[in-house]
Amino acid sequence: LLPPAAVIVTVIILAVIATSRRRLSPTGEIASGLHRREFFVRYQPIIRLEDEVCLGAEALVRWRRRDGTEVPADQFVPIAERSGQIRELTDQVIDRVLVDMADTLAKRPDIHVAINFSADDMDSGRIITKLENALKGTGIQPQQIWLEATERSLMHVDRARATIIAAHERGHSVAIDDFGTGYSSLQYLQQLPVDAIKIDKTFVDTIGTDAATSIVIPHIIEMAKTLNLVMVAEGIENAEQLAYLRAAGVQGGQGYLFARPLDPGDFVAYLNRPRGA
Ligand code: C2E
Ligand code: CA
Ligand code: CA
Ligand code: CA
Repeated sequence: LLPPAAVIVTVIILAVIATSRRRLSPTGEIASGLHRREFFVRYQPIIRLEDEVCLGAEALVRWRRRDGTEVPADQFVPIAERSGQIRELTDQVIDRVLVDMADTLAKRPDIHVAINFSADDMDSGRIITKLENALKGTGIQPQQIWLEATERSLMHVDRARATIIAAHERGHSVAIDDFGTGYSSLQYLQQLPVDAIKIDKTFVDTIGTDAATSIVIPHIIEMAKTLNLVMVAEGIENAEQLAYLRAAGVQGGQGYLFARPLDPGDFVAYLNRPRGA
């Protein structure tokens, strides 16, 4: 038998190990972040390129840790996708968007918010019911909520198609996100009845450069036009990119040239800014 002091020391050591393990487990951290509602949403304005009128915003999730640090989406969304926690995260993002934006969207039926969805969300169709319930009594029209889903999240084509059709029945529009970065973009376009494509930043970055991949973007635009899809370009950072996309007939865009992802109050101020400001 160990002397009592040794038992106490052992228990303390084990407790310290358990605590530090918990601190090191990313899924454990996400679980407590979800429990404490530490996730919040920024809104990046989406602009009509023709006249620079704001059409709406993309909702982008962030994590504010207890120590005050802000964690970007890339650092926890993929982990939550692998662990299955993305369902809870998606639900919290939807709830948050509706709380943040209910007044603005009810007052401005011409404005939409695009929410990002993952493979789990697109596979199950659960989000359609979730959105339907969450929108009840808010004064927000389903037309004001757009769905964004990456090609990767549409991999199970039959289930994704069912979700897209259900979304359309409710009145939502659906965009393929990061378009062109997957290995079979054209195949997805042929099989899925989407309304819009988001042209990935990696392609916008090539505009005005002599990168070999700069030949891709005219083809993407041509294809989207043939299929009558709305185009929204992401990651527009300079006037040359804007001029090119505008001349090519791309309808919408977002990027640091216009605005970074904004806190809800700043987005409303942006929306109401005097014309030409
Ligand atoms: P995404 O959907 O392609 O979102 C665009 C990303 O580009 C955002 O990064 C945005 O902040 C960034 N961005 C926008 N304009 C510019 C620009 O002019 N220059 C540069 N350098 N970057 C720009 P963010 O917010 O870090 O999000 C990263 C990714 O995480 C998103 O890529 C999306 O795939 C995912 N994500 C974000 N929020 C959610 C969410 O609520 N749910 C899910 N499932 N995924 C999300
Ligand atoms: Ca997106
Ligand atoms: Ca995107
Ligand atoms: Ca992207």
